[in-house]
Amino acid sequence: MGSPAVTEHDPARVGTVLNRLARDSRRAANITHVESVPARRGQPAAWPEWADPLLVSRLRAAGIEQPWAHQVEAARAAHEGRGVVLATGTASGKSVGYLLPVLTRLLAEPSSRAIYLAPTKALANDQLRSVRSLMLTGVRASTYDGDTPGPEREWVRAHATFVLTNPDMLHRGILPAHRRWAPFLRGLRFVVVDECHGYRGVFGAHVAQILRRLRRVCARYGTRPVFVLASATVADPGLSASRLTGVDVDVVDADASPRGPMDFALYEPPLLGVRAGRPSTPADGTEVGGPDVDGAGVDGAGAPVPHGENDAPVRRAATAESADLLADLVAEGVRTLVFVRSRRAAEVVAAAARRGLGEVAPELVERVAAYRAGYLPEERRSLEGRLRTGELLGVAATSALELGVDISGLDATVIAGFPGTLASLWQQAGRAGRTGQAALAVLVARDDPLDTYLVHHPEAVFGRPVEASVFDPDNPYVLMPHLECAASELPLTEDDLELFGPGARAAVDDLVRHGRLRRRPTGWFWTQRHRPDVDIRGVGGPPVRIVETATGRLLGTVDAATSHSTVHAGAVYLHQGASFIVNELDLDDAVAFVDAATPDWTTVAREHTDIRVVESTRSARFADVEIHLGTVEVTNQVIAFQRRRLTTGEVLGQEPLDLPPRQLRTRAVWYTVTDELLAAAQIEPADVPGAVHAAEHAAIGLLPLFATCDRWDIGGVSTDLHPDTGRTSVFVYDGHAGGAGFAERGFLRVANWLRATRDAVAACECPAGCPSCVQSPKCGNGNEPLEKAAAVRLLDAVLAAVDGDPADPPSPRRE
Ligand SMILES: [Zn+2]
Ligand SMILES: [Zn+2]
Repeated sequence: MGSPAVTEHDPARVGTVLNRLARDSRRAANITHVESVPARRGQPAAWPEWADPLLVSRLRAAGIEQPWAHQVEAARAAHEGRGVVLATGTASGKSVGYLLPVLTRLLAEPSSRAIYLAPTKALANDQLRSVRSLMLTGVRASTYDGDTPGPEREWVRAHATFVLTNPDMLHRGILPAHRRWAPFLRGLRFVVVDECHGYRGVFGAHVAQILRRLRRVCARYGTRPVFVLASATVADPGLSASRLTGVDVDVVDADASPRGPMDFALYEPPLLGVRAGRPSTPADGTEVGGPDVDGAGVDGAGAPVPHGENDAPVRRAATAESADLLADLVAEGVRTLVFVRSRRAAEVVAAAARRGLGEVAPELVERVAAYRAGYLPEERRSLEGRLRTGELLGVAATSALELGVDISGLDATVIAGFPGTLASLWQQAGRAGRTGQAALAVLVARDDPLDTYLVHHPEAVFGRPVEASVFDPDNPYVLMPHLECAASELPLTEDDLELFGPGARAAVDDLVRHGRLRRRPTGWFWTQRHRPDVDIRGVGGPPVRIVETATGRLLGTVDAATSHSTVHAGAVYLHQGASFIVNELDLDDAVAFVDAATPDWTTVAREHTDIRVVESTRSARFADVEIHLGTVEVTNQVIAFQRRRLTTGEVLGQEPLDLPPRQLRTRAVWYTVTDELLAAAQIEPADVPGAVHAAEHAAIGLLPLFATCDRWDIGGVSTDLHPDTGRTSVFVYDGHAGGAGFAERGFLRVANWLRATRDAVAACECPAGCPSCVQSPKCGNGNEPLEKAAAVRLLDAVLAAVDGDPADPPSPRRE
């Protein structure tokens, strides 16, 4: 990318602050782009005549003089009994869109009921507060979640008309006990699904099945509730919403709320040089070491130069740059919110910004704070209040709080690392801008290929529709346990199968064969005494508990899937800044015993991964290149671990581990190339393994650009000769049994995906590979071998052979 564009935009706005910041020449060099996002005029509408007059007067008293057009349009659809998804930006008032029809109905018809589903308890609580603040005595609203005490649960079932809960509670608490909920379900008129774009990947597939179970149970009680969904701006919200609910919905996505102009800067922290022989510290752990050590690089000044694996250069930590930006913006009087990825990073960034201010403006130190999950509601509300009044000028918050956080009156947001999806990015950036006033947003790149790509390709941030929410409700590994749940709730009938999708028939037959269901003339029955056990947020097997040997204290849990590589015997485990060494991993009981220790080394697992092609279900063939989508079996075994000195990364030794292999049947996208293509790309046979390995790492890093996944949700295998394909092959697979839809997105967008991968690697100015391009933080091979330049030539050759995505219609002008 060329020189910074700071000089090109209107200096009369909040952008003047940006200009002042950029006057520091080091910082100007780091700003890769500034986008001026124009203001939008609001489009008010009249209150609908059918809306309850008391409700309208209460909303007006709460400061909503007139609704916006999108709120009224969504409300009308729901009021008329049509399912609807309202997909508009942050602070566009989506809640008015569903509260108008829902509360109007509850007020008009005392026997009617409604459910509100939020992805988190905190959001349901916030929603309860705002409904209660309307003081409508005709609406009995209550939350129903894991925190609801027993006696209160009975009251909720019997008396509440508006129940605010989450998919977990619907799955575990309400549906299995539907007989006790019968009066409620008989009156159920509306199901509100808030923040529905958050239901993606395997979790999204689970929620889709839970909603189908809810529809089935409701049908038995004679009701067909109307689904009202609220979403951030996503591509094709109607398709996502109808896959999630299984019913067709209207789409309202024209945001009619006003917005001030915004300057949006893309910011790339500088690459820190490699200085051989000097002691180094590990880089910002948010990027390379897991969430518990992030922020370690915040003290840039005077600290030794960090480096990555195999002496690769690394960039200054996004958290460190963000802390500096926070201090500078606060010093300018700009009310700023920094979004970070972990609780610890929130504390570290706030502390570093306070330290920075202590030197230049000590009177402002007390006006910066951290704001993160885990605070008590009163603490959170006090912080929100102090931010609203301007008493607080700067806050570092975890991105989890982008949901439900009640903060207004901000001037700027700094986003430390791409939050994973454009939907989240705009959600976070949208927090800035007091009504109609100018705002500033800064995306600070982390040291990984996706962030690097984005700050060098503004068109991928600003010129592109937001992603669709990717999930696959037909995943058999998700479908089967929900069919068991459904059968245990009410016997499954022939007619029910259609509701659960095309795979339901085969799945039910399978369950009968395994003795889980029994076929009787009246349907399929659950045969076991206990209820089926499904962990809708988990990923394969019970989580492994981390227990301190000396005290028996439970420190936390890790996913079964990652336990072998993170809590094997001898692993260093970090928890809230304290370190422990694992003395035993007991796989039978799913528990790891740890002892407090402060070793001056860290540990890195070495793994061996094999992939077997079960079948290719779709393919595209070109001269010298084939691309496939299909089912694979991945066998992964953690075989050893290395101890590395914390300060230098020096390998202190390697110890073998005796852990069983783990198998995963899932979906993968893969491409194969011929030896002729490799020769034409001037890749020597000895360099092929490093070229495909580097191309694989970068492809994993960039897939989140096309599928709403995280790089930790997917894995890869590359080889110069694969026994099943007979060719040099690169595989990228879904990390969840049965697949989550990510590999499919990769297949459908393969040309675009590999183009972005190639560009990200080629654009990185490091000499031979670094975390910003081809190194992977989770490589089981210690990031060896990697051939960056050969990877670019390989990808160029593949792209030359592939003409377009399978998802695109064939080009009429194809030569
Ligand atoms: Zn690089
Ligand atoms: Zn690797």
